[in-house]
Amino acid sequence: MKTIRTTHILETKLNTIRLQNKTIGLVPTMGALHAGHLSLIKKAKENTRVVVVTIFVNPTQFNDKTDLKNYPRDLTHDLSLLDPILTNKDIVFSPAQKEMYPVPDTRKFDFGNMERVMEGAFRPGHFNGVAQIVSKFFMLIYPEMAFFGEKDFQQLAIIRKLTILLDLPVKIIGCPIIRESDGLAMSSRNQLLGKRERAAAPQIYKSLCHAVNLADKFTPGEVKKQITKEVDQVPELSVEYFEIVNGNNLQPVNQWVPDIPIQGCIAVKAGKVRLIDNIKFQ
Ligand code: AMP
Repeated sequence: MKTIRTTHILETKLNTIRLQNKTIGLVPTMGALHAGHLSLIKKAKENTRVVVVTIFVNPTQFNDKTDLKNYPRDLTHDLSLLDPILTNKDIVFSPAQKEMYPVPDTRKFDFGNMERVMEGAFRPGHFNGVAQIVSKFFMLIYPEMAFFGEKDFQQLAIIRKLTILLDLPVKIIGCPIIRESDGLAMSSRNQLLGKRERAAAPQIYKSLCHAVNLADKFTPGEVKKQITKEVDQVPELSVEYFEIVNGNNLQPVNQWVPDIPIQGCIAVKAGKVRLIDNIKFQ
């Protein structure tokens, strides 16, 4: 694999690849890679000829400066994980901030109601920042396919909408959540958890599974109440939101309407670390 630091060198390299008619698969990441990221990269390898993995901690999507400062970064370790998976035709693109933002990005995207709920409501400006960086990658790399995790369920829906807004021909592939053996969804932020918080965190997925079991007997509103209470009862955990939403438009549902996708999405503070997870109801 080749590690590239500048947009100029990346463009030159990709021009050659395009002349050879090779399909390009993009996997955007913020580094601190784990098996969740690697599953996306493996899927990209199976479906495209040249894989571009980006490693860039995007400042514009952080609404909390401390979160940005504390975000784990270890490029050497990331490259050691990628080395066995990527071949010499694949690319790791790890730009400095000024490469991606030579001037401030003032673009504002309008995702409608989709960005006013859940992560959008609790992290103002977050999805606008995500859209800024992902659109920059799309227009720099022009991938045929781009791979995103269902772990960030709302982000995946926002990215699909972004490609429609920008009329880009990239195919968005959603990939399933990879979990630790105790059920905790893998996340770069897990390494920031203290011992007690790490021990408590698997309750999040346990409660999501419990929520699905409760759906037979209770309305979405009742399930939401019970599950929020259940997670909040763990002293190390505090629920920011638990929403049961239409999987297409992300708006809360108050009935188990048949024939629409329904997803339960949760955000929990475990000490100072914010964790998100989700589960499919139908
Ligand atoms: P991040 O580095 O956290 O921005 O994540 C980069 C990509 O990896 C996003 O598309 C995430 O949804 C995806 N991802 C992160 N964690 C997981 C996981 N546990 N399982 C599957 N995909 C994941």
